[in-house]
Amino acid sequence: MEKVPQNMPVWRSMAVRSPESTHSRLPRPLARVNVHAPMRPSWACVGCGAQWPCRTRRNQLLAEFDRAPVSLALFMGRFFMDAAQDLKTEVAYVLYQRFMGWLKEQPRA
Ligand SMILES: [Zn+2]
Repeated sequence: MEKVPQNMPVWRSMAVRSPESTHSRLPRPLARVNVHAPMRPSWACVGCGAQWPCRTRRNQLLAEFDRAPVSLALFMGRFFMDAAQDLKTEVAYVLYQRFMGWLKEQPRA
């Protein structure tokens, strides 16, 4: 995994994945406007200020990883590991629930 500078938004999750999306051909800066990305090291959402992953980003992720729950879990696991390094005072179980717990609440495909 590439090293993300501290105090910078984490953009790697912002790639437009749908081949049908008209945004996929936009230059990357335009495709990143008003995104719900985590800001390190606080892991607050850049777009709405809520704890990341915020409700909007969760819904986006569910759409992006439709029918690929294992891939989504692996994807979120990487963020969980990064967040655990930044938020060392957070209780591990609380952090796990924040990044991974919501995945279990989703209906199986
Ligand atoms: Zn947000």
